[in-house]
Order: sequence, then C-alpha cells, then structure tokens
Amino acid sequence: MLNGKMAVVTGSTSGIGLGIAHALAGQGCGIMLNGFGDKAEIEKLRQELAKTHGVKVGYSPADVSKSSDVRDMIAQAGNELGSVDILVNNAGIQFVAPVEDFPEDKWNAIIAINLSASFHAIKAALPQMKQRKWGRIINIASAHGLVASTDKVAYVSAKHGLVGMTKVVAMEAANHGVTCNAICPGWVLTPLVQKQIEARAKEQNVTVDQAKTALLSEKQPMLQFTSPEQIGALAVYLASDAASTITGTALSIDGGWTAQ
Ligand code: NAD
Repeated sequence: MLNGKMAVVTGSTSGIGLGIAHALAGQGCGIMLNGFGDKAEIEKLRQELAKTHGVKVGYSPADVSKSSDVRDMIAQAGNELGSVDILVNNAGIQFVAPVEDFPEDKWNAIIAINLSASFHAIKAALPQMKQRKWGRIINIASAHGLVASTDKVAYVSAKHGLVGMTKVVAMEAANHGVTCNAICPGWVLTPLVQKQIEARAKEQNVTVDQAKTALLSEKQPMLQFTSPEQIGALAVYLASDAASTITGTALSIDGGWTAQ
C-alpha cells in the first residue's frame, strides 16, 4: 500500500516507534530509523527490517533534543532514501515529580524532546511534502495530550502542546495533500512504562504484576495494554488513501481512558 514511500520515524529503536517502523515497512515503505541504543544492535535491527520487508532502511543517530540534529536527520533521509513522505514524531521521555520538586533540566529535556523536536522536524520536512503534494505527519501524543495526571507537568504540557501543533499544521497544509494527525495512546507496555511500573512496585512494596494491574485500573476502563503493533496499524491507516481527509485530529487508542 505504501510502496515507494519513505518515512522518518523518530525514537524507533524501541517500543511504539519500532512497532510503527515495522508496520510501515510491512506496507512497502522505506524507513529512516532513529533513536538511542547499542550500535551493533541497531545495525542488526536495520538489516532485519530491510531484509524482512524488502525496503530501504537507514539509521540516523540524531539526538532530537537538538534542532540541528533534527534538521540533519531530515536531510539525511532525503539523501539516502530519496524523500520524506511520512514523518512520525514519536521520540519521547518521561519524568515524574510534583510541580514544586520538578527539576528544571527535566522540564527542559521533556519540552525539547516531546514537543520542540516535532516542530523542527515538521518545519524541515513539510516543504518537500507540499512540493510533491503528498505527505503524512503523525505525531505520537498521548492520553496526556487530552487530559492530565498529577506529577507529570512537563509531559502533560508537552503532549497538550503537540496536539495544538497538530491542528495548526493540519490547517496550514490542508490544501497541499498533506495531513497531520496526533495519535493519543493510553498505556502501552514499553520500556518507558515498564520503568514507571517498576518504580511504583518498589515504592508501594508490591509485586511488578500487582503494580501493573494497579496502573491500568487507575486510568483505563479496559484493563489491558495497547500493543506497539496496534499503534503501528493505526499509523498505517493514517498514511493510507482512505485517511486522506482525516486531518487535525487527536485519535485516542486508550482503552477508554479519556471517555471518562
Ligand atoms: P520507549 O522508551 O520504548 O522509546 C522511546 C524511543 O525514543 C527510543 O527509541 C529512544 O531511544 C528514543 N529517544 C529518547 N530520547 C531521544 C532523543 N533525545 N533523540 C532521539 N531519540 C530519543 O518509549 P515508548 O513508550 O515507545 O514511547 C514512544 C512515544 O509514545 C513517546 O512519545 C511517548 O510519550 C508516547 N506514549 C507512550 C505511551 C506508553 O504507554 N508507552 C503512552 C502514550 C504515549
């Protein structure tokens, strides 16, 4: 379905980003991977993805907290893959603490990675999408882009900002064949969430399984995690022709979290 299209997926060495990279590649889309991790493991992943799906796969080591790295990543994707047709802004980090104790460096890092990086990537990639009259921008926001939780001031601010950015870009690109949407997942069991579960288990002196159940039941009527593969399938749908008039939306995939 996406034969010949090329996608940049930030933060795709793990979790949701990796699920999206697999799903897009499975539809014939070339991929520029990005994210941190062991060099040899990333190279293995790059080769596996290319071989499994028969598509071009590159890797950018960009640290998306740096605007110049983001610009270089989009340029590298253009040079190595030929174009950037799909941009998935997914890289993200988390830190939890009450507002009055929230460290300034954590605030700055979360705003840079979870919010500003998407602005820099969109700014760099949008001109070529408009020129080709086809583009898909998919921002991985969160249920926290729509509602709040305590102790997550930077994350909730960044994700609400990302939902706003999605709407502006959608309006500006509306008549250029380019859509821009946000995906708002609830809990997805990835390393980012596993860390929170383990911290809670330790803090509350309960098992990791008990902490997992508690985490889900606090927020999600549906007591199960969404998988990275399900988020990947939604990204594929948004990239398809069937979704060509879906733009400026924040799509929940959250087990009922934000229905309450
Ligand atoms: P993860 O920790 O498994 O993956 C994060 C990815 O981002 C990794 O590849 C990591 O290397 C990369 N990354 C981190 N900092 C980076 C930087 N400065 N530059 C480049 N890459 C960087 O996390 P995940 O759960 O897969 O999260 C992916 C996205 O989904 C995030 O934006 C997160 O906020 C969002 N999200 C996650 C959940 C969830 O429950 N897991 C729910 C809603 C939204």
